[in-house]
Amino acid sequence: MQVLIVGGGPAGSLTAIHLAGKAEVTIVEEHPSAGFPVQCAGLISESCFKELRKFVSNRCLLNKIKGAFVFAPNGSFLELRGRSGAVVVERKILDAELLRKAADDAEVRIKTRFLNCSKNKALLSGMNGREVLSYDIIIGADGVASTVARTLNFPRPEILPAIQVECMFEPLDERMVELYFGKDYSDCFFAYAVPIGDTSRIGVIAHSPQLYFKNLVEKHPSVSSRVKGRIIELNAGAIPLKLVDFVKGNAALIGDAAGMVKPYTGGGIYYHLVAAQVLGRTFPNLNEYCREYLKKMGKEYRVGEKIASLYTVLSDEDYVNLVKVGKGVEKLAHELHMDSPSSLLKIIPNLAKLLAHPRLSAKLCRTLLSRF
Ligand SMILES: Cc1cc2nc3c(=O)[nH]c(=O)nc-3n(C[C@H](O)[C@H](O)[C@H](O)COP(=O)(O)OP(=O)(O)OC[C@H]3O[C@@H](n4cnc5c(N)ncnc54)[C@H](O)[C@@H]3O)c2cc1C
Repeated sequence: MQVLIVGGGPAGSLTAIHLAGKAEVTIVEEHPSAGFPVQCAGLISESCFKELRKFVSNRCLLNKIKGAFVFAPNGSFLELRGRSGAVVVERKILDAELLRKAADDAEVRIKTRFLNCSKNKALLSGMNGREVLSYDIIIGADGVASTVARTLNFPRPEILPAIQVECMFEPLDERMVELYFGKDYSDCFFAYAVPIGDTSRIGVIAHSPQLYFKNLVEKHPSVSSRVKGRIIELNAGAIPLKLVDFVKGNAALIGDAAGMVKPYTGGGIYYHLVAAQVLGRTFPNLNEYCREYLKKMGKEYRVGEKIASLYTVLSDEDYVNLVKVGKGVEKLAHELHMDSPSSLLKIIPNLAKLLAHPRLSAKLCRTLLSRF
């Protein structure tokens, strides 16, 4: 059976790795290498990295992370340390090594762009001009702007733009991520700083992210004085906001193409890894791939979407109060796992009891527990 995978990012490579020995796989990747341009902070859980280490070396490991400082707009912050540690990886290396591993069993064609497809034939444009490739199954792993999804009329998720820079920055702790909330720093999501040694990756996910980025580095009461020196790397990207239908006949989507990201952070790599494992297990039954993935991850998406909806429900004053009253309950964060939004449900009853702010408490519970 011939499988065409469009896209040599993590979703495409992990899919090929998990299909090894089950089909004749071709990956087409439009760029000369995977992981470029970088549109990622590189933060993944330790457990996700442990799984990826089966396929890649330690070379991509940049930093180990213990937890996160969650900032209210006035500069006050909470310290949260979850059940899992995290690591920061260099995507240029991770993606290149994953693609190399995929090439053990699959044919990899770089500098080859998928243009469109019809009746099990794909039109490609590569180094030797245009060619037609026949397939039995096509997998769109071609990212948030997926051409495969558009060609085959899959529903498309709404997307949110993001910008990220790498620059000299003094983190409060070089093993802690910083998350910045408030209407001046994102209208609907958050901003962040991920430390990687002397530099940090500072990003904003928002409508008009440039505007909020400027606010963050020039006006934020804690951040503005800690940004030092010039920008080393600037990247723009987008995150999908919703999981969409991802199987249709002999075609399937995976990764950002399917909106497979944690709804309240936009982090995708763990979600793609799980999808590739499920696809490998259920192949060639694509409907089973869909059913199993939703069975395993559906609750995580539902809870994750509720958490994400808090970003537009909470006011600046609520964030300030959250940090104030949260000081006493920081230890509850030990129950949380960064890959599992539903781990939050376990602590909600305690959280509500401990929160000394009834209005905020009611707002959190109303948003997080509705329709469960
Ligand atoms: C600013 C930002 C920060 C992020 N930070 C994190 C983070 O810290 N942790 C985390 O887990 N996730 C993070 N993410 C999300 C993560 O980067 C994505 O979920 C992940 O890169 C998606 O992988 P993918 O393989 O689905 O798509 P991509 O990585 O986009 O790969 C798709 C590949 O398909 C190729 N392609 C596209 N179209 C075609 C075509 N027509 N023909 C051939 N090839 C094609 C592209 O060249 C690309 O190599 C972040 C995203 C953004 C925007």
